Amino acid sequence: MKFNTKTIHGGQKLDPAYGSVMPPIYQTSTYAQTTPGGHKGYEYSRSSNPTRTALENSLASIENGNYGLAFASGLAAIDAIIKLFEPGDEVISTSDLYGGTYRLFTSIFEKFGIKFNFIGMENASNIENYMNDKTKLIWVETPTNPMLNIIDINAVATIAKKHDILLAVDNTFATPYLQQPLDLGADIVMHSATKYLGGHSDLVMGGLIVKDKNLADRLYFIQNASGAVCGPQDSFLALRGIKTLHIRMQRHCENGKAVAHFLKKHPNIENVYWPGFESHPNHHIAKEQMKDFGGMVSFTTKGNNYEEAIKLVENLKVFTLAESLGGVESLAGHPASMTHASIPKEEREKTGVVDSLIRLSVGIEDEDDLIADLKQAIG
Ligand SMILES: *Cc1c(COP(=O)(O)O)cnc(C)c1O
Repeated sequence: MKFNTKTIHGGQKLDPAYGSVMPPIYQTSTYAQTTPGGHKGYEYSRSSNPTRTALENSLASIENGNYGLAFASGLAAIDAIIKLFEPGDEVISTSDLYGGTYRLFTSIFEKFGIKFNFIGMENASNIENYMNDKTKLIWVETPTNPMLNIIDINAVATIAKKHDILLAVDNTFATPYLQQPLDLGADIVMHSATKYLGGHSDLVMGGLIVKDKNLADRLYFIQNASGAVCGPQDSFLALRGIKTLHIRMQRHCENGKAVAHFLKKHPNIENVYWPGFESHPNHHIAKEQMKDFGGMVSFTTKGNNYEEAIKLVENLKVFTLAESLGGVESLAGHPASMTHASIPKEEREKTGVVDSLIRLSVGIEDEDDLIADLKQAIG
């Protein structure tokens, strides 16, 4: 089955009761048993729920995995991965990563004795410098947030395999429409389904997908034991979102490209960060591991003025000023005052998050309206 069919049918069965085309929302916590242990595969909805199962099967299918697990949020999914490890274990992570992931690693798991090394991975061989016999996981996010750096998943997977450790990839920005990390050698794919998979800014959810049965069993044990599962209603919404992932992503990419090129030509714009430009440092890797370049575009304005950047995002009318990304509607964010405000100026500027940086999640509206909106706001 090809990807555009998998988003709709992958892992799905007609409901046996009445043949409903969409899985029913099984809004129940428990299931009747005829005799102790005599049930139809479901006992209690933290452990499993048929609507969640339908979503988990869809997740596994679209990422070319064998097992999917759905969580209450993207961070809950990451939390389950790190719970595979023990005090003394080490993780090597990309340094340019989602702020919430950084907070979870440093403020929660470091307390429990897990050590995190945050490093640049644009050159994958840098990882070898931090590898030792305590290293258990490499954590990769690509493209990264908000600088849209690209990491070579295949090259990192080769290093992980050589040392017999796990590689997890946060595939939130790319989605399986653009890249399928398990096929490139990753062991775990993670999603904030809140973003493109859900696609309509109407839920918070996370997902993990793996190929290996033993790893799936260990993650399932943690999911059930820790309990950060998503409910049946949200599972239904995420499934509905996934059914249009391929056509939404196609338009996100088209509009993203149009916006990136418009910004690049604009006299008041300094830098445009988008992996589709040949001048992007890892464009050649993006071209190889991604089908297209996605709908995320970041840019800075000439003069790098903090107040001017705030004015610009305030002046946008079609783009909504908001955190998050990946919905059908276009969003704009100002990392220095929003998502990255807690990071000291000096620190954030090291990774490129300067005062005038603006991050766009380009939606699927008409391209002309998006460009006209940017034109009037930039001035
Ligand atoms: C939003 C996001 C997360 C966290 O997911 P939540 O669903 O908000 O918990 C993790 N990684 C990336 C890249 C994200 O954009």
